[in-house]
Amino acid sequence: MSERGGFEALDACVHCGFCLQACPTFLATGDEADSPRGRIELMRALEAGELTPDDAAVVVHLDRCLGCRGCEPVCPSGVGYGRGIEAARALLATKRRPAPLARAALWALTTPGPSRIAYTLARALRATGIPSRLAGWGRFRFAMGMLAATKPSDGRTLGRPDGKRRQPPSDSPTVRQSVALFRGCVMDGLFSHVHDATVRTLEVNGYAVREVPGQVCCGALHAHAGLREEARRLARANVAAFGDGDEPIVVNSAGCGAMLKEYGHLVAEARFATRVRDVTELLAARGPRPGAPVDAQVAYDPPCHLLHAQRIADEPYRVLAAIPVLRVVSLPDAAQCCGSAGLFTLLEPAMSRAVLAPKLASLRTASPQVVATGNPGCLMQLGAGLAAGGLRATARHPVELLDESYRAAGYYA
Ligand code: SF4
Ligand code: SF4
Repeated sequence: MSERGGFEALDACVHCGFCLQACPTFLATGDEADSPRGRIELMRALEAGELTPDDAAVVVHLDRCLGCRGCEPVCPSGVGYGRGIEAARALLATKRRPAPLARAALWALTTPGPSRIAYTLARALRATGIPSRLAGWGRFRFAMGMLAATKPSDGRTLGRPDGKRRQPPSDSPTVRQSVALFRGCVMDGLFSHVHDATVRTLEVNGYAVREVPGQVCCGALHAHAGLREEARRLARANVAAFGDGDEPIVVNSAGCGAMLKEYGHLVAEARFATRVRDVTELLAARGPRPGAPVDAQVAYDPPCHLLHAQRIADEPYRVLAAIPVLRVVSLPDAAQCCGSAGLFTLLEPAMSRAVLAPKLASLRTASPQVVATGNPGCLMQLGAGLAAGGLRATARHPVELLDESYRAAGYYA
């Protein structure tokens, strides 16, 4: 970590304003202080001591940043906005504790003992079907929609052109490269079915997936809340758990993947960061092998931490292209955040819903049966939004769709 803690990543800003139209919060409010350029000015003043951490403008406008990093790819000066906002949040956290709701959510979602209980209770509630029935707008009902959106598919959601089960191709890959699975906290607690699909689809494509004991939360939610020391402690535990070597570390959550790739900056573990691969990167490197036809229309909505932070754009499309007949539609505002942004949807519900609204409008026009996205927060946000907006589509991870296609192809029962 540099002497200035990441603020130096903002130095290149020349105030050109090219980033403004890429910023969902600026588009929602039209306020310069809710734009990347405006926030960079606030952060510079904060670092210089010209504004204090309790200054109202600093609090309101930095808290309202999604951290989506949509401003980075469009910046001609290469401003590292993500590192800058994390430095600013770390500085703010030294002067004011994160909101009680943020601390409670972090404790319940990421602390090994309590999170096990929280996820068990959440899965039990999900199994009753009550969250699906209560899903809607308003804080409580939206939270119910988010929980309902984590439900595994019953495998009957997508159409198959002829309904027949096929014989798997006999030429199974001979090279089996070992990869280590990163499980994460929310993914493991509520999306273990995506982990299962990840393992199965990777194995069909010649990877042997290894479980790694002793791994913990990636620390992304802590870093975004300004709790950098807690994020560092988690990062060091993960580095120790995954050990040395060159074995790729496979991640199916864009937010976790982006964080793990930042360990070079966070704890000077650049080598660890180079091993991290999104599951779509590994699958795309092998084709992936085609599955059975699936007759459905899918809108792919890239998670910000995959598209902007990791700059992974084509690989998810290549995964979906391995499913014959599937029609993939692109949304005009696909590069815009859905408003999830980790705990943001809980802490800043008004802004989160304002950012979600144009995305839902695009989805209403595109009218897909499935919205595919590779991040737990986005799956929950979009799933809850679809339910609240009365759209019939469901939100699914791209790997789940490939898994369904492989199952129909007879690769596994
Ligand atoms: S595009 Fe880059 S240089 Fe221009 S205002 Fe935005 S952050 Fe600054
Ligand atoms: S991270 Fe996202 S919300 Fe924050 S300034 Fe950049 S584009 Fe806007």
